[in-house]
Amino acid sequence: MFNELLQPVLDNPLVQLSQRLCWLFFVIFSLALVFWTWRDAERRGAMSWFWGLVVLLFNIPGWIVYMVVRPPESLADERERELEIRAREAELQRRFPSCPACFKPVEDDYLICPSCMKKLKKECISCGRALKLDWTVCPYCKTKQ
Ligand SMILES: [Zn+2]
Ligand SMILES: [Zn+2]
Repeated sequence: MFNELLQPVLDNPLVQLSQRLCWLFFVIFSLALVFWTWRDAERRGAMSWFWGLVVLLFNIPGWIVYMVVRPPESLADERERELEIRAREAELQRRFPSCPACFKPVEDDYLICPSCMKKLKKECISCGRALKLDWTVCPYCKTKQ
């Protein structure tokens, strides 16, 4: 009875077409999900082929499982963030120089750290400006040290 009622609807070419489009969409969506999972797992250093297969077999439930157990962040991202932090630290160091021994702020032209007395710079023998300890010539007056 139900089937008899439904059959003309199902035979309608428009319904059949939309049914087929739905399937097509589902297949493309599944493949895209598999591809996304595979790539994401590879980026994060997880077993990419395994998770790709899981999503291929179980579809969205498999994908949800992957989202729960996947590693928190990719190795590349982690390294990138580390580099970013280090660059920011170097930038801070450049703008607000600090003593390498006690980490208290110092001025660029300090010869020693006022807090711990560590030698930071040397004085030019000719013009008296603050020079880095490893400089062999004064860049201000060209005098060899
Ligand atoms: Zn110091
Ligand atoms: Zn000098």
